[in-house]
Amino acid sequence: MKKTLLPFIIIIILIISGSIYWLKKQNITKEETPTEDTYTKEEKEKLAKLDNINEKIDYFNMDYLSRYLTYQQKNPNLKIEDIITRVNIGLDQPYYTNVKMAPYLNQIYILSNKYLALGENYVPDNLETLSSECARSGMQLVHEAKEKFEELCLAAKKDGYTIRAMSSYRDYNYQLNLYNRYVKQDGKEAADTYSARAGHSEHQTGLVVDVDNNQIDYTLFEQTKEYKWMQENAYKYGFIMRYPKDKDNITGYEYESWHYRYVGKEIATYIKNNNITFDEYYVRFIENKK
Ligand SMILES: [Zn+2]
Repeated sequence: MKKTLLPFIIIIILIISGSIYWLKKQNITKEETPTEDTYTKEEKEKLAKLDNINEKIDYFNMDYLSRYLTYQQKNPNLKIEDIITRVNIGLDQPYYTNVKMAPYLNQIYILSNKYLALGENYVPDNLETLSSECARSGMQLVHEAKEKFEELCLAAKKDGYTIRAMSSYRDYNYQLNLYNRYVKQDGKEAADTYSARAGHSEHQTGLVVDVDNNQIDYTLFEQTKEYKWMQENAYKYGFIMRYPKDKDNITGYEYESWHYRYVGKEIATYIKNNNITFDEYYVRFIENKK
């Protein structure tokens, strides 16, 4: 009789110790996972005003909670997702405030704008000179962007169009002189609407071309048939129009029909299909994720 009881006793002991272990583990995971109690009553009220969008999107930043609400009050017609996006870009503050150094140096998804700077010393790796068939002499881009721009240029040529890089990589000092010249000419406020301050120009990434058709001034590019071709085809080679019409309140720059940025085909396709800017794409899909 005693012999047959022993296995039962062992099993019961095992079940009890197993349950204790399981319960303890449950408690630990409970403490680690944020629950509703993570937020104070005040925070919960604020989150409710933003339709608890923090539960639906992963680029919500609790540090910006008050800024989101202030921006929402000022822009009641904006979708909440856009409020989060724009505050994350920094647009609730004046241009060139809270400037940070751009992360992702030498990556095709690096962002440079009025809140993210490349700095005085940044020179991208792998700069290469564009072929004379596709560019003014001495134009340089980062290897991958150069390859893709030449592909684009040759495809356009096949279709009967001339698309030429008339400006591409610019170093810090070049932009410094350019910006200072514009400030002298038009004043700082005006210059800021169309020219980047040194260290903030996207041209310094080596991923940007300003194009023309080698006939009329690049500022009139919008009027050319080459512009139309770019609208339909640039994304296939990974290029986007970086400063589109009516998006200057997001990009911080006036519309530039001639300025194209290499971001790779995947990002370019998404941006085209969803009609958003790279600044928006960046805070939603790249920042804090790559
Ligand atoms: Zn440009």
